[in-house]
Amino acid sequence: MKVFDLHCDTLFKANETGKSVVRNDFEFSMEKAESYESYTQVMAIWIPDEYRKERAFHLAEACYRRLNREVDRQNVFLKADNYAEEKSNYTVILSVEGGAVLSGDIEKVKVLKAMGVRFLTLTWNGSNEIGDGILCDSPKGLTPFGRVLVPELERNNIIIDISHASEPLFYDVAEHTTKPFVATHSNSRRYCQHKRNLTDDQFRIICQSGGIVGLNFHKYFITDSGKVTFLDLQKHLEHFLSLGGENHISLGSDFDGAEMPECIRGVQSIGEFYNYLLSENYNESLLKKIFYDNADHFLTKYDEESME
Ligand SMILES: [Zn+2]
Repeated sequence: MKVFDLHCDTLFKANETGKSVVRNDFEFSMEKAESYESYTQVMAIWIPDEYRKERAFHLAEACYRRLNREVDRQNVFLKADNYAEEKSNYTVILSVEGGAVLSGDIEKVKVLKAMGVRFLTLTWNGSNEIGDGILCDSPKGLTPFGRVLVPELERNNIIIDISHASEPLFYDVAEHTTKPFVATHSNSRRYCQHKRNLTDDQFRIICQSGGIVGLNFHKYFITDSGKVTFLDLQKHLEHFLSLGGENHISLGSDFDGAEMPECIRGVQSIGEFYNYLLSENYNESLLKKIFYDNADHFLTKYDEESME
């Protein structure tokens, strides 16, 4: 089977611990992913809310250099900056989780583009130069800088990710974007109340924009109690499907950045979840969409349209 995962924090964790993204005892490693027929991993550089200005940018640079070194050191995974042209059976794509990396400097968008950054999660949970994250008190939407930034990201083919965004920020992004935008790692608030999850309205707006949403395996985003079986994760999937998400649902594991439930131990559990859904009589072509095709089509189309 083929896997496309829109979010993991393995690169940040590797940078913190000095370990490798190729071989490690983490939830994701390239070596473990090679047991699948094909695997595309979006690797996020997480910018914690304590990191601001130069410190945020230096962290991103260090992670970027580490990823390049590690990709060069093995010969299975290739990094794709232009996905439509460079995708392969085992692909790694760079993202930054935290717009603080820009320090409010619009010129840095081109620097991110040159690094091959394809997704920018506008905020983490706190506030930054762009807007407010989901844990801010009385959150606000896009700042004046944020309003200038949105079209500049779109011009540079950096996809806007609203996972972690506050509601006002979400609605401002929906209003100011002209290209599809995404939630790389967020579940449904209908089934689990956590603020990090999406309301039905938010999910529908992302679908209408042509964007995609990645199912998150963090246990407290699946159930309020954190006790989780595959059936609970399936409930999020079912609800998104009932909202018309068949072509918009993907995976956003959050490996190495979240608390996994007992039924999910890492890369190998993605195949177990796939087999569980097959045993629940899911049609194979629908599962292929969720586990790979939707994200693959989304990014291919995004890149092809921007080359026209
Ligand atoms: Zn996150």
